[in-house]
Amino acid sequence: MTRKALVTGGSRGIGKAIAEQLRAAGMDVKTPGRSELDLADPTSVSGFLSRSRDFDVLVNCAGENFPRPITEVTDSHLTQTLQVNFVSPFQLIRSIAEGMAVRGWGRIVNVSSIYSELARPGRAPYSASKSALDALTRSAALEYGSRGVLVNSVCPGFVDTELTRRNNTPEVLASLAASTALQRLARPEEIARVVEFLAGERNSYLTGQCLMIDGGFSIQ
Ligand code: NAP
Repeated sequence: MTRKALVTGGSRGIGKAIAEQLRAAGMDVKTPGRSELDLADPTSVSGFLSRSRDFDVLVNCAGENFPRPITEVTDSHLTQTLQVNFVSPFQLIRSIAEGMAVRGWGRIVNVSSIYSELARPGRAPYSASKSALDALTRSAALEYGSRGVLVNSVCPGFVDTELTRRNNTPEVLASLAASTALQRLARPEEIARVVEFLAGERNSYLTGQCLMIDGGFSIQ
């Protein structure tokens, strides 16, 4: 049976690699662009869900991170970060997971961050949104588990994407790479391979977890 997957943030970076990986595994993958599904706009989210909500796999990958000190965070910046990184995944899970549960099989993967557990200056709204996302992962795993829906977070460290390059100077990137056990940034496909496992048939007992994929950064 061909599984139907929805991947947000599939236009580039980690989400694009996830969509490619799931397609290579034989899934029918939908990657709506912002014109079809703008996660910053609750009306766009509800409109999308009124048209399509039958998916076997949901990967909440889209996210935003515009670092600034807490004193410079405006209400609208705070609200938008929470909306895109936490509220919209919640809205998608709320509408899509019940159908998975009724059919008796589903996989949900939330793309979180090491900063759901760790702190870094300038990342307060981002960290809070990813901590909330991990809390949602655990709650959803409990609420849907008995009906065959497994829910996990992956928490990447430093991945070589546009987001990472925009938010860090080349010097900072080099020092971040040096601070990992593997002495390098991750490639998007290295995150995608873990997501493919979590989203597939071979994952049958792993749920409610937040997996750090950070080249050994957070063990120090
Ligand atoms: P990226 O290259 O900046 O891509 C972000 C993706 O999210 C794009 O597809 C973008 O779509 C989409 N997106 C952002 N805001 C959206 C909105 N309002 N509506 C719909 N789509 C929206 O980011 P990335 O580095 O691949 O990161 C992907 C995820 O991994 C994020 O959740 C991020 O927090 C997480 N993460 C990344 C890293 C890292 O090192 N890169 C580390 C830890 C966690 P458009 O093309 O339309 O802009």
